[in-house]
Amino acid sequence: MSAKINVLFLAAEAEPFVKIGGLADVAGSLPLALRALPYQATRGITLDVRLVLPLHRTIRAESAALHLAAEFFVYRRGGNIPVQVFEMSSGGMPVYFINGVPLSSTPSVYSQDPAPDREKYIFFSLAALELTRHLDWQPDIVHANDWHTALAIYALRTNFNGLAETRIRTVFTVHNLPYMGGDSSEVLSAYGLKPLNDDSLPTWAHSQPLPLGLWAADAIIPVSPTYAREILTPDFGCGLDPYLKTRMNSMTGILNGLDVNFWNPETDKTLAERFTADELPARAVNRTALQKALDLKEDARLPLLVMIGRIDKQKGLDITFEALHQMAHRSWQFVLLGSGDPALENAAISLQADFPDRVRVAIRYDEALSRLLYGGADMFLMPSRYEPCGLAQMIAMRYGCVPVVRATGGLKDTVQEGKTGFLFKEAVVGSMVETLERALTVYAKPEKWQHLQRNGMKEDFSWPRSACQYAIIYRSLMSDL
Ligand code: ADP
Repeated sequence: MSAKINVLFLAAEAEPFVKIGGLADVAGSLPLALRALPYQATRGITLDVRLVLPLHRTIRAESAALHLAAEFFVYRRGGNIPVQVFEMSSGGMPVYFINGVPLSSTPSVYSQDPAPDREKYIFFSLAALELTRHLDWQPDIVHANDWHTALAIYALRTNFNGLAETRIRTVFTVHNLPYMGGDSSEVLSAYGLKPLNDDSLPTWAHSQPLPLGLWAADAIIPVSPTYAREILTPDFGCGLDPYLKTRMNSMTGILNGLDVNFWNPETDKTLAERFTADELPARAVNRTALQKALDLKEDARLPLLVMIGRIDKQKGLDITFEALHQMAHRSWQFVLLGSGDPALENAAISLQADFPDRVRVAIRYDEALSRLLYGGADMFLMPSRYEPCGLAQMIAMRYGCVPVVRATGGLKDTVQEGKTGFLFKEAVVGSMVETLERALTVYAKPEKWQHLQRNGMKEDFSWPRSACQYAIIYRSLMSDL
């Protein structure tokens, strides 16, 4: 088979234009990685992937680089909404930015209040589809990500506005199942979409974007093989596990990749000292820089433990805090960088008050500090209650910071016990303490520890491997080409 497959890739955020979380890393890298796959890797298919993003107020794009690609209206009860679409080229890939009042009326990418987000992302999803009628290019596949863009594929499947006249296949990547978008019946109806009338999904899900995307998708991609299995169970399935079991044949877990050029300790200019896997002692310079900057005791032998990420119940920070209390008699230092849930932020500040000599908490988003932490700390803690994929543990390994993680989702698929890190099964304090004790025992033997660090640094988390798996899915959906 030799052919070209056109893919319209929809996401709420993407590097380098706008980043809130891991979705931006994926949407910034995967479309380019797919376009760059060699002909042999796709078994003779060329992938013309194009990215569509909302023109958020915070988009980082030179306005001179943008040109108007299309203007049209999206139907909405009470008055059609004018849409402007701007286009630019990024790394040779066309990127379309959708602009319209529902998108420009809120200052941030996501709001605390879900109502304006439902309006803006339903508008975005439908405008992105309508755009395809105004381009000299038609998608064979629409690839949506998370609840924000799920309604684009629901609209296709339900032949909204005659959209399904040409059969467009659909792929839906699930980065975070619990975020479903909430009851959207009012907004669906305002935009002329009907709620689902099919009992294969539970009734409460009939007007929630994420379940509708699952129902509509030809292929469902959870972001790790383990997460793909976990969401079939009541513990992780958020009430959708019975439905997902019926879709097992359409589901493939594919791990996210890592942008290994963006995250590279050999070239990272924010580090006090750059290093390779063969220059591990150089990491000590970064650790000293950290200890200085954070006013921690400068001691080369004290294990430095860190956490970086959203401060959310998902990430198990409360488990870490209690584990550290139980390990007060051991020597360690701990740094937390993150922001989010105010109650957990307060618990973190209390931990610092309990251990003023050895805990530092930085409640903010700070990429430069994150890089120094990855490149200078000894252990990266991630006791997540669930973790669809997780990028932070991969970055940590690439920077020689040994992960101590809960064996769930992508953490289980990327960290190998005793070879690249330490894993524990239950998200409970006792299991974490036991595992930290195990890690500290190995840490006391520098040769063994360096072996773990080197193994982690040599792991291949680059995008081409994951992109190849996506290409195989695209190809199978177009098998009648
Ligand atoms: P999630 O997508 O669930 O938020 P991931 O581990 O997949 O978690 O990705 C988180 C990304 O965001 C990583 O690149 C991590 O370094 C970065 N990050 C999260 N919080 C912060 C912060 N406060 N400062 C700097 N970087 C952060």
